[in-house]
Amino acid sequence: MDLMKKAGSVPRYYAALDFEKLWEAFPPAPDYFETTYLLSRDAMRAMQESRFLDQMKRAWDIPFYQRHWGEAGLEAGDIRSLDDLRKIPAFSVHDLRDAIARNPPWGDFIGLDPDSDDPMPLAMQTSGGTTGLPRPMIYSPQDREVMNIITGRRLYMQGVRPFDLVQVTLSLGLSNGGFLAREGIWKYTGAVPVMTGSGAQTPTRRQIEIMLAWKSKHLVGFPAYLRHIGHVLRDEQNVDPRSLGLRSLIVHLGTDDRKPLEELWGADVFDTYGTNECGSLAAECSEKNGMHVFEDAFFLEMIDPENGRDVADGERGAIYQTTLFKHLAPLIRFNSNDVSAFKTGACACGCTHRRIDRIFGRSDNMVKLRGTNIFPEAIGALVSETRESNGEYVCIVDPAHGGQDEMTVKIEVGDVAVQGAIVEKTLAERLKLSLGVKMKVVACEPGSLSALTGLKDNSKVRRLIDNRPKV
Ligand SMILES: [Zn+2]
Repeated sequence: MDLMKKAGSVPRYYAALDFEKLWEAFPPAPDYFETTYLLSRDAMRAMQESRFLDQMKRAWDIPFYQRHWGEAGLEAGDIRSLDDLRKIPAFSVHDLRDAIARNPPWGDFIGLDPDSDDPMPLAMQTSGGTTGLPRPMIYSPQDREVMNIITGRRLYMQGVRPFDLVQVTLSLGLSNGGFLAREGIWKYTGAVPVMTGSGAQTPTRRQIEIMLAWKSKHLVGFPAYLRHIGHVLRDEQNVDPRSLGLRSLIVHLGTDDRKPLEELWGADVFDTYGTNECGSLAAECSEKNGMHVFEDAFFLEMIDPENGRDVADGERGAIYQTTLFKHLAPLIRFNSNDVSAFKTGACACGCTHRRIDRIFGRSDNMVKLRGTNIFPEAIGALVSETRESNGEYVCIVDPAHGGQDEMTVKIEVGDVAVQGAIVEKTLAERLKLSLGVKMKVVACEPGSLSALTGLKDNSKVRRLIDNRPKV
């Protein structure tokens, strides 16, 4: 695909879309909360069916799906409704990387055909990319605008209102999060984004000056960084973060603990699930009782990583994503490897959409220890709450000698001689209580684990070393 090929005419963003029609199909806030948010399950299913069939039609035009589905013997007529979804072979990030390797630099899953498509304005952002080049995603005007509408919905749902200042501490560069927040906030909430970016872009002291002088009402960022800002305020500047009167902290909580962060800031912490490819897929409402899936734009499945079958509501599985709006790179049964569970019961806010639990970890990181599934991320969350540790850790699984596999969690502790023994004991107790499996904790000198985790040479950080023979 040669992006420069049709440079003769200049496509304009605002002429590329029928906005009124788009807002009818994907209502922005606040209309959304009186319409789609309350749809009956039957009406929602009917909407999803028709959008799904449109996505299938579109996907069959794209070389990636022609190849992936063709190899599995799938034909266009095989899929007549969402009930047939299970017949479609799933794919994962490995397939996307493979598609990029075969067709550099974009991969053939971005269905742009310069020979037949009208030129359209394009936006690009990427995945984080801890190894090698980050993975690019290109968005058509419709892709981008639906993602903006959804970003606006979720922030409105989490209390953002016109004229509020929303300080966004996500990095501004290749990755999607910061830019998507800006577009969603200023286009679809009436609030004002304050794009301070990450601590590398605006030092924490300056972030704090801005926050105090301009009176930011909401913070968007990663829990670890928002915790850090709070600690700097409290411990170095002697300002109680609660005195700022912030209304909400808008984060991807993951396995992080909500409560200490809420207590530190005296503000609500709201969880969100999003990706580079899709933007926000689900978000918590004010009830904080699971994340509502934006079901007019996504169909999610919860799949057992071991046998590929649906898990029951309430049980953990990997999230498979199917988009219902994307033009350039629709995702059909994308195995995100993110593990969550569908929540049971209704939400008190009245929304009819399905809800997912928090993200427990990644299924490709999951390790089975004496019959229990363990996520290193969950261990990391407990390590990060251990005051004496700097948060660095690695989990090592060794084969059984007498029948039981053993996991050892090595953590870095500031003063091993003084604090080591007590940290080993208390963390082992917390791990047993929280994860249900006994494991050994070993306190190590700061910096000593980097050879094992790979933190030193800045490659992908390893949190799990499994020494058991592969079966
Ligand atoms: Zn709700």
